[in-house]
Amino acid sequence: MGMTRLVRAVLLMTASAALGYLLGYWAGYPLLGTWCGAALAVVVQGARELLGAGRLIHWLQRMQEEGLGGGAATAPRDRGLWGELGYRVERLLRQHQSALILEKARLADFLNAIEASPNGVMLINADDQIVWCSRVSAQHFGLDPERDLYQRVTNLVRNPVFVATLQAASPTDGAEPMSLLAPAGGVISVLVRAYGGQGQRLVLSQDITERQRMETMRRDFVANVSHEIRTPLTVLAGFVETMASVPLPHDEQQKVLGLMSQQAQRMQSLVADLLTLAQLEGSPRPTVDRWVPLVQLLQQVEVEARGLSGGHHQFEFPDLADSSVQGLEIAGHPSELLSALTNLVSNAVRYTPPAGRISVTWHFQADGRGVFGVKDTGIGIGREHLPRLTERFYRVDGSRSRETGGTGLGLSIVKHVAQRHDGELQLDSELGKGSQFRLVLPAVRLRRV
Ligand code: ATP
Ligand code: MG
Repeated sequence: MGMTRLVRAVLLMTASAALGYLLGYWAGYPLLGTWCGAALAVVVQGARELLGAGRLIHWLQRMQEEGLGGGAATAPRDRGLWGELGYRVERLLRQHQSALILEKARLADFLNAIEASPNGVMLINADDQIVWCSRVSAQHFGLDPERDLYQRVTNLVRNPVFVATLQAASPTDGAEPMSLLAPAGGVISVLVRAYGGQGQRLVLSQDITERQRMETMRRDFVANVSHEIRTPLTVLAGFVETMASVPLPHDEQQKVLGLMSQQAQRMQSLVADLLTLAQLEGSPRPTVDRWVPLVQLLQQVEVEARGLSGGHHQFEFPDLADSSVQGLEIAGHPSELLSALTNLVSNAVRYTPPAGRISVTWHFQADGRGVFGVKDTGIGIGREHLPRLTERFYRVDGSRSRETGGTGLGLSIVKHVAQRHDGELQLDSELGKGSQFRLVLPAVRLRRV
């Protein structure tokens, strides 16, 4: 390539010198003509090269400003040396650019993978500045992943424990993750690790609000159960001691034994309720292929309700021969359903003074869902208690409920059963006027045979 160029330049100069010699000869100055011819060839060649170099420099400048994607994508296609140089530079740049695009795509892929993690990831440099921060991490620490980039994290997250841990982080640190109150609400667990050897640190964060809530619930539950068992147990132990130390007359003895058996029954029903709850939580949802006749459920509920009331209340039950209940079946677990319905009815009996009215109904809603309703004219429930009523052990008035033997687990069982059957428990009550509970079952779990 270089050789042909040189040969071409020499040939051009020779030809031009020869032409100059001829013209000079004709004019009487052959030597001058020859020199002029050769000089002209050099000047023309030089001007061409200069122009080519100028175009190439101009192109390189534009490239620098606009990049390969700009208007100056291709180098000037000059036939001279500079054209060749431009072409080579352009190819080199293109190769670099495709390698860069590939690397960028890989980096984006990598960051996307980190973004997909449910945990937060933040990279911090030696000056405590945020180098990169995933969206989850930004959410945990209340940051803006773009705006807060290269800000000092210690200025943005001012928790002293966090700042101290950040500064003390080392690569082999087996430190326990710390729990922080997230600025956005909730609790996060944060782990800081040093990496890279130049003071960089990795901050991993995880939302543990739900886990903490569960732990609190579990602790409360154990505390509640122990408390519920301790009370009757203390009473029983007291009676046993009395009977062992003091000889009681027969009448008195009978009375004490009666009280003792009441306490024992309370513990029994508590254990039974706890077992029911544990079973509900541990077993799979009732399938949609086991059908229970509604009439059968209503019959059992009525027997229990009347037995519990002992004739002290006025009852209203659906007519079992009526077409709305005849032949109707519910897909679900018979004993779970029965337990839910009798819980509602037994509450109505328990919390309705004698001569009160209790009506049990069954009807269909416009959307096809079936509603089992229990309405009473009892003591009712204050508005402030309604949202918490289905919590385990929640009682409006502990003392009154204890008199009647309640453990506060009934409605949480009903709610569980309702949810397991894809239904819901609705409640409505007014203090002093009465209450209404509705167990709503989805249309898919109802059929007529
Ligand atoms: P358990 O049903 O476990 O024997 P319980 O009846 O006390 O005990 P739940 O059935 O869960 O527990 O009811 C929670 C509380 O709601 C009761 O203690 C009572 O104060 C109130 N309650 C429930 N049903 C009625 C009702 N029909 N009228 C008035 N208060 C009610
Ligand atoms: Mg109850």
